[in-house]
Amino acid sequence: MSDRHILTAVAWPYANGPRHIGHVSGFGVPSDVFSRYQRMAGNRVLMVSGTDEHGTPITVAADAEGVSPQEIADRNNRIIVGDLTGLGLSYDLFTRTTTANHAAVSQEIFLGLLKNGYVFAQTTLGAISPSTGRTLPDRYIEGTCPICGYDGARGDQCDNCGNQLDPIDLVNPVSKINGETPKFVESEHWFLDLPAFAKALGDWLGTRKAWRPNVLNFSVNLLEDLKPRSYTRDIDWGIRIPLPDWRERDDKRIYVWFDAVVGYLSASIEWARRSGDPEAWRQWWQSPDADAYYFMGKDNIVFHAEIWPAQLLGYNGGGDKGGTPGSYGALNLPTEVVSSEFLTMEGKKFSSSRRVVIYVRDFLERYDADALRYFIAVAGPENQDTDFTWAEFRRRNNDELVAGWGNLVNRSISMAAKNVGAVPQPGDLTDADRDLLTTTSGAFGTVGELLGRNRQKAAINEAMRVVGEANKYLSDQAPWKLKEDPARRDSVLFTALQAIKDCNGLLSPFLPHAAQQVHELLGGEGTWSVQPRIEEVTDLDDGRPYPVITGDYATGQAVWASVPITPGTPLDTPKPVFTKLDESIVEEELRRFEEGS
Ligand SMILES: [Zn+2]
Repeated sequence: MSDRHILTAVAWPYANGPRHIGHVSGFGVPSDVFSRYQRMAGNRVLMVSGTDEHGTPITVAADAEGVSPQEIADRNNRIIVGDLTGLGLSYDLFTRTTTANHAAVSQEIFLGLLKNGYVFAQTTLGAISPSTGRTLPDRYIEGTCPICGYDGARGDQCDNCGNQLDPIDLVNPVSKINGETPKFVESEHWFLDLPAFAKALGDWLGTRKAWRPNVLNFSVNLLEDLKPRSYTRDIDWGIRIPLPDWRERDDKRIYVWFDAVVGYLSASIEWARRSGDPEAWRQWWQSPDADAYYFMGKDNIVFHAEIWPAQLLGYNGGGDKGGTPGSYGALNLPTEVVSSEFLTMEGKKFSSSRRVVIYVRDFLERYDADALRYFIAVAGPENQDTDFTWAEFRRRNNDELVAGWGNLVNRSISMAAKNVGAVPQPGDLTDADRDLLTTTSGAFGTVGELLGRNRQKAAINEAMRVVGEANKYLSDQAPWKLKEDPARRDSVLFTALQAIKDCNGLLSPFLPHAAQQVHELLGGEGTWSVQPRIEEVTDLDDGRPYPVITGDYATGQAVWASVPITPGTPLDTPKPVFTKLDESIVEEELRRFEEGS
């Protein structure tokens, strides 16, 4: 058991609509599996995120509906809070970027960078619509990528090669709003001096040996072409620039991405302020022994392996120009950027604009959260793009969860309940009994090592292999044939139940809802896996109400070790833990999918 401070920094979902299962396979489920495992292992986890609510897509949606950007953000924040809670994602605090606290922390980071000389003002060419004279946001300009030649590159980023772009770099730019060619006019902005961090970022990445190789290679390649990036935008929705002559301006704001990544820090500070110890966040951000793991889909690597580390380095005074830390003191850089690839759907890329999606809320209306969590863990896009199909979802649910794990739980507890009515008292254990228990208790070492390195697919495969060993043991020992030898039958059932207790521990980070049920089926009382809850709070500074996700995770009994079961604990006939899915669901879902696309 260790007692490390571990920050789980989860990518901030953008508040322009409900989340689909592609989103939560990238940032959601992997970050929760990691956090639940680390808490079970005795570490002090702080898992934070929130909705990302600034930027142009929100203002475009607001204009289209004739409502304020805040109304759009409020509505989608609430929807997303519901989606993520339904999946059992155990945030210590899931907040939002429109809090007064977040604005203050974002402004402090900007001022720290300015003090050390890492942001500078420059007049640049910005795009406007010739017909309306209004600023054309980067994302609403499309053209050919100057780096890879991809036709559908956006003004801020090329989704094909992942490079950050400025709209003026695009070949043949056009407005996505009305198809006209944008006009570029002069506008004054603040820039982050990224080239001043080339050496510091390179040195830091050079020490990051444990990252997933694809993520590390991508991050190192980003350093080849560092250019200053505009820290501010011509927009009236976002965080004000904390400088005289700029603060009151209605046409200039901090760029949404530069405030969104500060959210990891501001949410930690908000959590501390709400906990009653406003300085508590420092244990995760300033202790040299603390670790910070950032979870996201691969389209966000640039912001977590380049932009945010550069902001932190500059705030600390750690770039080419030196400097001293801002008023918070020096802040820790990420330990690891844990990025997943993309989840496609029935062979097509998930895209809400093309409506080829399955929303989390629709999924949870018809299926269990743990069935989706299992699919993402065992077949998700950990190292490569992967495809979700309903046929494969059904097959894994039925063959692996129901017939593998669920059946082991069900037949063992049924037999013990029927014959003994309690966890049986074992006699002398045989070699076969001891071998199985050595395997199941020993798996905490092997599976835990994989989870600690975020090799989650290998971890769940190993846990399910151990479940297979327990199933094989039960078939080989055949306690149902031991009517004439109840003493031996009881030893076999005791061994099987202890193996189930161990396997349930191994699977708890992946299947927290099922883990609570199995805990209770084994006669356990109280809470094994704590689930998150939605709490209605008010802004700490301006009093506006909003919902947060939080939870008392330290109160759960789940630990990362074999927990002995107690003979004599009463057992009832179990209800099935997982639901078998009928063949007809595949056709029904494909029909829904075709109608939606
Ligand atoms: Zn490109």
